[in-house]
Amino acid sequence: MRVLLIEDDPSVAASVRDGLSANGYTVDYVSNGTAGLAAVDSAPQPDIVLLDLGLPDVDGQDVCRSIRADSQIPIIVISARGDEVDKVVGLELGADDYLAKPFGIRELIARMRAVTRRSAAGSTTSQGGGNTNTGGQQDIGALTIDRRAQRVFLADEEIALTAKEFALLSFLAEDPGSVCRRTDILSQVWETDWYGPTKTVDAHVASLRKKMGDAAWIESVRGVGFRLGNPGQAA
Ligand code: CA
Repeated sequence: MRVLLIEDDPSVAASVRDGLSANGYTVDYVSNGTAGLAAVDSAPQPDIVLLDLGLPDVDGQDVCRSIRADSQIPIIVISARGDEVDKVVGLELGADDYLAKPFGIRELIARMRAVTRRSAAGSTTSQGGGNTNTGGQQDIGALTIDRRAQRVFLADEEIALTAKEFALLSFLAEDPGSVCRRTDILSQVWETDWYGPTKTVDAHVASLRKKMGDAAWIESVRGVGFRLGNPGQAA
């Protein structure tokens, strides 16, 4: 797997690069945002991006937004800014996960595996295009979720979702109308190795609502969590 590491701190970069290389990863390393954006677009393209938020030239948030604007490549934000606000901001910008410095190489690799596994899910699982909730295509009003191809359509128009947004929407769609608790969403969509704040869920819900163009698709249930709505039906 090819990893693009965008990090300006040479000591952090060296330890991440050495740790990943020792575990069989190919690491391309750049020390600023401009070079990072160029590297995402040039061959051979990376399979995952590790992005520091505090960069010398371009703010990491802008780098994240730019990458996400034309690519669904998994992004893990690594940052010394440990506060919750930055985590939520990073995830709102389309990052798939967040890791605060300092972190161990094992934890990083676990996160990388989780993120890339989710992004690959659907292309290798289940056969046949049956109209079921678990295998092929699922229709909920104007919404179509194709789990095999990991694509989502609204009124026949495709919506580009990140791997995490897709996983969240798929999870809510497993039982449309039923309430999903934040903690269940975290453990199912972010898997058990994620101990982040539940605000992460809210950030992804906000970005999903925005992409779907109608907040009513994902209803908030105060103090509990969320459920998948069907705005067309409600009207
Ligand atoms: Ca930095």
